[in-house]
Amino acid sequence: MVETWVPGAAGSSYDVDHLPYGEASAPDRDDWWIAVRVGDLALDVAAVVDHAMLSPLLRTARMHLLLRSGPRLWAQLRTELVRLLTDPACRPEVEPHLRPVEEIELELPFAVADYVDFYASEHHASRVGALFRPDGDPLPPAWKHLPIGYHGRAGTVVASGTPVRRPTGQRGPGDVGPTRRLDLEAELGFVVGVGAEEPVGCEALHRHVFGVVGVNDWSARDLQAWETRPLGPFLGKSFATSISGWITPLAALDAAWVEGPDQDPPPPAYLCPETPRGLDVDVEVVLNGRVLSRPSYASMYWSPAQMLAHMTSNGATLRTGDLFASGTISGPRDDQRGCLLELTDGEGPWLADGDEVVLRYTAPSTGGGRLALGEVAGTVLPAR
Ligand code: CA
Repeated sequence: MVETWVPGAAGSSYDVDHLPYGEASAPDRDDWWIAVRVGDLALDVAAVVDHAMLSPLLRTARMHLLLRSGPRLWAQLRTELVRLLTDPACRPEVEPHLRPVEEIELELPFAVADYVDFYASEHHASRVGALFRPDGDPLPPAWKHLPIGYHGRAGTVVASGTPVRRPTGQRGPGDVGPTRRLDLEAELGFVVGVGAEEPVGCEALHRHVFGVVGVNDWSARDLQAWETRPLGPFLGKSFATSISGWITPLAALDAAWVEGPDQDPPPPAYLCPETPRGLDVDVEVVLNGRVLSRPSYASMYWSPAQMLAHMTSNGATLRTGDLFASGTISGPRDDQRGCLLELTDGEGPWLADGDEVVLRYTAPSTGGGRLALGEVAGTVLPAR
């Protein structure tokens, strides 16, 4: 890899083999702009890229056009950014458009079209199943035949840093009040760039998915338990979902792909049973500064490509800005549980007002180090 001239960036988690995208604002500017992080600095991309095809995508200051432009232009932009950030001759023109990340605010990085949340960890689904159905099979009958999911609420997906208000709802028959069982769920989200009118095969993940974000799928367990049968999660989930401000492009994760677990029984052909591939992403769940657990995304049963193939397999169209998340990332070990429901065996303690949850993610980089994916932070506000 060619070394960058950006001070402090070479060998860091934000070297030029990463280059995550965000939508930025700052107190001294009255606009938004597309930013790329390099080292501890954020680059105003539109200010430095001078290119007939790329510049029009960037001038809107919104990620939508870039997302829908597709893999060829995504790759061209990445190549151009690497050139600008590594060629010393470019430094005089580029450096004035870099500023410390502390000086910018990250907005929601893209307009979320639809939001689908899966349930792809066997360890999570088994533990939750055993808690909710102690006398039955921990996994529902369809679980190993298809990636189970539900449609979430796109309009309440919020950027990392946005405070989350404790929801109020039905905790049981005739019992209305603030949730007593507020929980976090550490997940990984996939951002759809290119839409589709037809089912998307497993082999087409890279043609449609632009990148990944960290996701905290906040959950009110008492509301969820009472409302969820038979149609699935509703108000126990829809009050807020936090995502990271930075999107790590899929192109930065080339070194992170790993073989998935054996799938038995083999799923149907449209779910490509021969090639399930996961991502070697390590997660850290932090509550009020203390690490609660370290789940690994590599242990997920269903792959991102299988989730994408499944959610379009019935003919449902795919749109730019669709977000699909993995479901809680939990591994086999006790210290790899990705939510309080599992960490406390359903007993609590749950999240208190004022608690701060931070999710951190790392993955191997193509340069040999480790990328730090965008973190997801949120603080609990008291109920209204
Ligand atoms: Ca979830």
